[in-house]
Amino acid sequence: MNQKKENTTPSNFIRHIIDKDLAAGKNEGKVVTRFPPEPNGYLHIGHAKSICLNFGIADAYKGTCNLRFDDTNPSKEDIEFVDAIKDDVQWLGYNWNELHYASDYFQKLYDYAVDLIKQDKAYVDDLSAEEIREYRGTLKEPGKNSPHHDRSIEENLDLFERMRNGEFEDGSHVLRAKIDMASPNINLRDPTIYRIRKGVHHHQTGDEWSVYPMYDYTHCVSDALENITHSLCTLEFEDHRPLYDWFLDQLDVPCHPQQIEFSRLNLEYTVMSKRKLTELVNQKHVDGWDDPRMPSIAGLRRRGFTPASIREFTNRIGVTKVDNVIEMGVLEDCIRTDLNENALRRMAVLRPLKVTLTNYPEGQVEELSAANHPQKEELGRRTIPFSRELYIDQNDFAEIPPPKFKRLILEGEVRLRGSYVIKCEEIIKDASGEIIELKCSYDPATLGKNPEGRKVKGVIHWVSAPHAIEAKVRLYDRLFTEPNPDSSKDGQDYHDFLNPESLVELEKCYLEKNLADAEPGVAVQFEREGYFCLDKYSPKSEPIFNRTVTLRDTWAKLTK
Ligand code: ATP
Ligand code: MG
Repeated sequence: MNQKKENTTPSNFIRHIIDKDLAAGKNEGKVVTRFPPEPNGYLHIGHAKSICLNFGIADAYKGTCNLRFDDTNPSKEDIEFVDAIKDDVQWLGYNWNELHYASDYFQKLYDYAVDLIKQDKAYVDDLSAEEIREYRGTLKEPGKNSPHHDRSIEENLDLFERMRNGEFEDGSHVLRAKIDMASPNINLRDPTIYRIRKGVHHHQTGDEWSVYPMYDYTHCVSDALENITHSLCTLEFEDHRPLYDWFLDQLDVPCHPQQIEFSRLNLEYTVMSKRKLTELVNQKHVDGWDDPRMPSIAGLRRRGFTPASIREFTNRIGVTKVDNVIEMGVLEDCIRTDLNENALRRMAVLRPLKVTLTNYPEGQVEELSAANHPQKEELGRRTIPFSRELYIDQNDFAEIPPPKFKRLILEGEVRLRGSYVIKCEEIIKDASGEIIELKCSYDPATLGKNPEGRKVKGVIHWVSAPHAIEAKVRLYDRLFTEPNPDSSKDGQDYHDFLNPESLVELEKCYLEKNLADAEPGVAVQFEREGYFCLDKYSPKSEPIFNRTVTLRDTWAKLTK
């Protein structure tokens, strides 16, 4: 997969609707979508589904897609999130047509609300939040009208203006739409459209407003003001659609966009709601929003995922109206396939064991040439120094080998990848009996050639000790031990399923010297180990590498 965007968004039911609309000549043949995040957290892989859908549809129909911050809840929002969201959308490979904030429309929204009052379709209510809930009724029983339902238009206009002017305290008054307290759809039982939030500083509008519009009212009007044609949202808004349409039917707005719902992305072994992700960050279960174990875009990026792999993932899962949970293996397979094709190959020894080649001349160094990728010559070659002192991985030597062990054993031979065949002659142990060094011999006739008269099956990786870079390596695994950590069994919640081994840090790993040029977030293959990338917070003095993904799906084996 290259970085060019593949214009192969698979078809889905939303595209069928748009095709029909276009065939019927709706919206003057235009397609305008929007991605409307609330800046109260970082984007996660679920948002990526919505981004790829909205921007992908705009691309496919030569339409446009806006980025709109749905910023009507200032107490939870922050400019840090606004900046991170913009950055993530661009990193995923998309450019918005217009950038908006719902707060840009606060004056218009206010004026439209006044218009509703003048039509006798909205009123100011002084009931408390709890009383409003009591009056609302239940799924089985209709609600009843508030005692303030029939206030005069003049009184409502006056009260609403005073709400705006900051004369009332938070929670003392709200503006409600006057629809139908007996509606079978609870969303239509006189929903709140404005509430008072005094003394809260808004990241865009400062201290200008004391009243803030609610999501359902803001969203449809903002869509209409931007001439959105298809407003795509997740299934939980299906029951809100009549309200979306009701507002637009009452108001003199430029157009009436069509709301279409699709299912949310759920992923195994993680949680996806921003509230829970915020808790993981605030309770320090992870190292920030961009912790490589987080399902956030920033986390996946720090972990070495590519934009193309995430776009490919959203293509593979498709868009439907059926809720389901996607296996983590699908996401991992997308990045593995991408990196297998594109990542440079390097050697790194994660659990070093010293090897001294007793018959190799002291002080001699050979620069061996190795391909950057076994199948792609165009990715070039590199040189790797070879010397008398090397490191191999502890797992590649066994004093008492298990059956079928093809790596190094005492008096056995193995090939060092891209170089010579070596033979272990002697094991050196420390006082506690731990193996600290192997004395080996090398066969000078075996550089790039099979030895004569015998077969050497095993090939292992290595680095030259005096040339290697010392580094820390973080092995990341799934954040939770349960496929569905959200399922509350026996009073447990997702905190109870945090995986204590989701991060294992290895120190004193040795990397081939070419990894000195590694770029943060750009994964390479550590041969025989997996895909890894330099951590973006890695200090120059001691590089830290993060494991992006293993070479094979190790979980598939465990769960079968
Ligand atoms: P959360 O429930 O995690 O807080 P949200 O829906 O409140 O998410 P928003 O910032 O409002 O988050 O979401 C912006 C857009 O992304 C919305 O259109 C929303 O429907 C979509 N979206 C959010 N989560 C998912 C998901 N898991 N799968 C698909 N789309 C999603
Ligand atoms: Mg939301």
